[in-house]
Amino acid sequence: MPNNTIILGAGIAGISAGYHLKQKEIASTIYEKDSDWGGLCGFFEIDGFRFDRFVHFSFAPDENDQKLFAGQIGMYEHIPFPSNYYHGYWLRHPAQNNLAPLPAEEKVSVIADFVNRPQKDVAEIKSYGEWLRVQYGNYFAEHFPFVYTRKYWGVEASELETKWVSVRMYTPDIKQVLRGSYTTQNECFYFAQTMKYPKQGGFRSILNTCREGLDIRLNKKVIKISPQTKEIYFADGTTETYERLISTLPLPEIIKMLPDVPQDVIAATNELHWTCGYQVSLGFNRPDIAKYLWFYIYDEDILSARVYSPNLKSPDNAPEGCSSLQAEIFFDCKATIPSDSEVLNNTIQKLQEMKVFAPEDLIVKDIRFEPYANITFVPSIYEKRQIVLDYLNSLGIESIGRFGKWDYKWTHQAFADGKELAV
Ligand SMILES: Cc1cc2nc3c(=O)[nH]c(=O)nc-3n(C[C@H](O)[C@H](O)[C@H](O)COP(=O)(O)OP(=O)(O)OC[C@H]3O[C@@H](n4cnc5c(N)ncnc54)[C@H](O)[C@@H]3O)c2cc1C
Repeated sequence: MPNNTIILGAGIAGISAGYHLKQKEIASTIYEKDSDWGGLCGFFEIDGFRFDRFVHFSFAPDENDQKLFAGQIGMYEHIPFPSNYYHGYWLRHPAQNNLAPLPAEEKVSVIADFVNRPQKDVAEIKSYGEWLRVQYGNYFAEHFPFVYTRKYWGVEASELETKWVSVRMYTPDIKQVLRGSYTTQNECFYFAQTMKYPKQGGFRSILNTCREGLDIRLNKKVIKISPQTKEIYFADGTTETYERLISTLPLPEIIKMLPDVPQDVIAATNELHWTCGYQVSLGFNRPDIAKYLWFYIYDEDILSARVYSPNLKSPDNAPEGCSSLQAEIFFDCKATIPSDSEVLNNTIQKLQEMKVFAPEDLIVKDIRFEPYANITFVPSIYEKRQIVLDYLNSLGIESIGRFGKWDYKWTHQAFADGKELAV
């Protein structure tokens, strides 16, 4: 097999590209900057606790993908019943369908504003902020998703457009809202009815079958690309030549590596927005700390937007008799980011105040930073990313994956990008 195809990045998109090309008898070499493969599907271990790089479940709709991801290990299937923490109250998800624990006055405010919500044709709605007011009414919009948007996206809801929302947000009807304000609803309203997770080895195990036999070179950070001479330069001083180049690198990163980029492409790149984020990972010396697979937090003095439990995803993620949590804290890429210790201390202190755990339960604490988490859907995104993608295309660089296509892709969608290349 000729081997002149180079893939940059060993996340799910890069592994998928390598795997699907191999199925077509096309060899490739994958170069990865980190010391391990998997990208955002990867994990790390501390004292027998395994933590993924953010929450991660699989809800791939394609049956062949499901079989491939399950591999020899098999998957747990969880029914998603996340929770919501709001000013001392725990509400089932979605919060508007489960108002029962709230004080009467607050339920009245939510329901009255839901009934009197602004009426507008969805097609005419321009911003996510307006979309939220039209779907949920002002009180709920302002107290729940507006606050969560600030914490998860690092911007105001009014600064986002709406195409990305799709199935991600549930729109209730009045009967559901009323029923949920009197009693606990047992119906699962989540956009996926089951969330799959490998029984062993962390989320990355979904790639075990695909990565077998692939040529993955680790600790190979690309620093420069010359499309004219078809050369790649690495931080360790080595160089490789390619005939075909597939990149899963974030658009703002690859643009910095190219010579003589036109001004309009640089300007478009500078207008791309994304979030970066911390993972605060905590291990406990008792089995019963985690009560929910994950929960959202709406209080703004608590930096963490969402907290999930690795050991509830799979008991294989924690030593016997122990449990674990990982909190996710996000910021806009252009914001001033608080220090590691500030975020770690706030997360630990606030989770204790929420009575999630007591100081003597905690045996492992860790904080890590991811420079790229989510693509932010500001109104200019579609036009600007197209300018960048057209430019890469003109250089013969095939850009795929969440940050390579600059899209809100779940893992199976980043995987599909790699599959499409080999068709
Ligand atoms: C908070 C959060 C929660 C998520 N939850 C889910 C979920 O529950 N389910 C789901 O399906 N999806 C989820 N996702 C999305 C999922 O993580 C992504 O769709 C997927 O992992 C993207 O894969 P990728 O290969 O495109 O990118 P990445 O995983 O980022 O891979 C890119 C690779 O390129 C490498 N790289 C970067 N720069 C260089 C360089 N200069 N030289 C060499 N290598 C380099 C990186 O180290 C990385 O390994 C979540 C994402 C986030 C942020």
